[in-house]
Amino acid sequence: MDCPFCRIDRALVAESELSVAFPDARPISPGHTLVVPRRHVASYFDCTPEEKADLWRLVDRVRALVVADRRPDGFNVGLNQGAAAGQTVFHAHVHVIPRYAGDVADPRGGVRNAISEHKPHP
Ligand code: 5GP
Ligand code: ZN
Repeated sequence: MDCPFCRIDRALVAESELSVAFPDARPISPGHTLVVPRRHVASYFDCTPEEKADLWRLVDRVRALVVADRRPDGFNVGLNQGAAAGQTVFHAHVHVIPRYAGDVADPRGGVRNAISEHKPHP
């Protein structure tokens, strides 16, 4: 199996017993980081309760590291679950995306803009 997230062995931002965090290869903002379970599992929802808890603890640690390093003004945190939702790497991962005031003209909606052509609640 050729999974990019099973091959990450350096440049870790942080790690824990069951999870690792590393920079996204194509960051959409400075500090964009991925948090993934060490075990290869395609879907977040197939993680064990222990893996989920460990993953979210690492998300918190990554957030603190990014705040200390970059002083962002906000975050989008989320996951793409399934190809229909935009998932392209089928090893579960949470995106931690720092946001900076003014990085887009109108940030309202945030992750609700996942369906970018459909913005019913401005
Ligand atoms: P998805 O679209 O599945 O939610 O996100 C996959 C993410 O993985 C993308 O943001 C992409 O830039 C990132 N990515 C894809 N391949 C690699 C890789 O080999 N190394 C790293 N660090 N990130 C990757
Ligand atoms: Zn994998």
